[in-house]
Amino acid sequence: MLYACHCSDCQKQSASAFGLSLIVASADLEFTRGADQLRCWQTHADDGSAKPCHFCPRCGTRLYHGNLDADDSVSVKGGTLDQTGDLEPVAHIWLRSAQPWIEIDRARYACFDTEPDDRDELMRRWRARGK
Ligand SMILES: [Zn+2]
Repeated sequence: MLYACHCSDCQKQSASAFGLSLIVASADLEFTRGADQLRCWQTHADDGSAKPCHFCPRCGTRLYHGNLDADDSVSVKGGTLDQTGDLEPVAHIWLRSAQPWIEIDRARYACFDTEPDDRDELMRRWRARGK
């Protein structure tokens, strides 16, 4: 499930206007090379829980957030995939902090000013798309 996050943290970590978070079941994520070279630093989510952030030590690109060994799912940074043409978010969140020049088609995407109360709703919308 993919959503675009316009929070200030995602703007900074993506060095852009928003982040693309691709939620993937930890069991379904496989690194074909280089996983042993990834580095990690830790920040904290709004609820205070630790959020490990994994990145490439050579180029500094953030690859995913979460703990593959402990979390059911992790957040892969969508823009890091080799093929991004099929990636279309199901929702835009934290629009309260979106750059003022961003225009969102509110008929096409679920839109939230802050964090959605129910992230399961995003997953239901994603599955309803049939992707
Ligand atoms: Zn964010």
